[in-house]
Amino acid sequence: MSDCLFCRIVRKEIPASVVYEDDDLLVFNDINPQAPLHALVIPKRHIATLNDLSPQDDAVVGQMVRRAAAVAGEKGYAARGFRTVFNTNAEAGQTVFHIHLHVLAGRGLTWPPG
Ligand code: AMP
Ligand code: ZN
Repeated sequence: MSDCLFCRIVRKEIPASVVYEDDDLLVFNDINPQAPLHALVIPKRHIATLNDLSPQDDAVVGQMVRRAAAVAGEKGYAARGFRTVFNTNAEAGQTVFHIHLHVLAGRGLTWPPG
């Protein structure tokens, strides 16, 4: 998807504060952080929403979840706690249509979310 914001970040056409990168994933800090740690874990391959996942995506989604925990752990939040969120479509507030797992930590996070 040439015009997708996160695909452009993957291609390094738009700068990002990269936390982690491998062949399948990119992790970077959210430009508008909602907590002391607010990173986004994305697959390098474009997938628009969770509604578009197929069984062939199971491995990369598993990698995303494990990487989210690793990033939180590296920042010292494994025991304190962290929140992982996928927003899907309008009512959930999805604004970028390339799946991303938010990783938030470093302050008390209320439940239910707004
Ligand atoms: P969502 O609302 O769940 O689709 O989340 C999209 C997230 O992407 C928001 O938290 C934005 O702050 C973040 N975001 C938008 N543009 C950028 C960017 N250029 N670099 C890093 N994060 C971004
Ligand atoms: Zn994309």
